[in-house]
Amino acid sequence: MNQERVLTADRVTGKLHLGHYVGTLKNRTQLQYKYDTFIMLADVQALTTHFHQPGLIRTHLREIALDYLAAGIDPERATIFVQSMIPEIAELTQFYSMFVTVNSLRHNPTIKSEAQSGGGEEMYYGFLGYPVSQAADITFCKATIIPVGEDQLPLIELTRKVVRRFNELYRPVLTLPRALVGDTPRLVGTDGSAKMSKSLGNAILLDSSREELELKMRKAVTDPSRVRKGDPGHPDICPVYAYHCCFREEGVEEIGEECRKGVIGCAECKRRAVEAIAQLLEPMAERRAHYAARPKEVDDLLMSGTSRAREIARETMLEVREAMGLDYF
Ligand code: ATP
Ligand code: MG
Repeated sequence: MNQERVLTADRVTGKLHLGHYVGTLKNRTQLQYKYDTFIMLADVQALTTHFHQPGLIRTHLREIALDYLAAGIDPERATIFVQSMIPEIAELTQFYSMFVTVNSLRHNPTIKSEAQSGGGEEMYYGFLGYPVSQAADITFCKATIIPVGEDQLPLIELTRKVVRRFNELYRPVLTLPRALVGDTPRLVGTDGSAKMSKSLGNAILLDSSREELELKMRKAVTDPSRVRKGDPGHPDICPVYAYHCCFREEGVEEIGEECRKGVIGCAECKRRAVEAIAQLLEPMAERRAHYAARPKEVDDLLMSGTSRAREIARETMLEVREAMGLDYF
């Protein structure tokens, strides 16, 4: 196995959806065979926006673990662990926060757009600082490959800055990570907004039943200028066409053509999209059912993943303290 380490995470704010799958999860299921793969359940990061709903985080922790296993993450290969159970991450966050400016956080494009979609309320200290915490997530285990969706790129850039700064200020202890974006850097939501997202309620969940999938698809927006079936459509601005592009093995071009010519109506196009997505979700449902029936097994693998991550965190922390001259005794 290659020496490099992969780290990715999901905020424990809700079940995973198709955007996660094409943006990062699919990549993870392949990378796990090549690299030492770490997958973090980001419960602390979830608190930055959901601190008033700890019960929701608690419920979703196991649901997301099931999403991973359903999507094909192999617990024998990948280390799945819980962020809040690695106190060294908090410690590193504090150290890094000394040399990250408030302005670099306020002007970070990801923070800016998330703050806007959050309704523009007052910004919390923990939210503003979560990119620093993310730098700690990545560096505690010296991960170098970070499979993420496009929305995360400015945050990975920030981590790279933290690494360079730390290494030049103290000693070259940290490794420089790079982002790896999936086939679809940003999957559109069923409401037509740029990003399918847990928080926007425009997602098709990986654990959708056939009925839920059909319902979501029925409600999905399409080309708004198309009123009747015979009207020529514009697939390039239609979310349903985007789903064909991601989830259909063949015949994507034909569907686009038929739409443009007004031969195929939106209802038929959606029906075919349901078929394509169901082919992905059905095998996932089987794997999910297997693990859902074995909750103890799932808890055990989260605990053993967390203790492996913790050991590595302790080692890194010793090196960091030494580099910073904080290893007094
Ligand atoms: P939240 O709205 O709570 O932030 P989210 O849907 O943005 O949830 P995250 O847990 O923040 O999900 O993201 C986990 C990973 O999935 C990140 O790498 C992110 O870039 C990726 N991702 C999320 N949504 C999409 C999407 N629609 N297309 C591509 N990648 C995505
Ligand atoms: Mg997000």
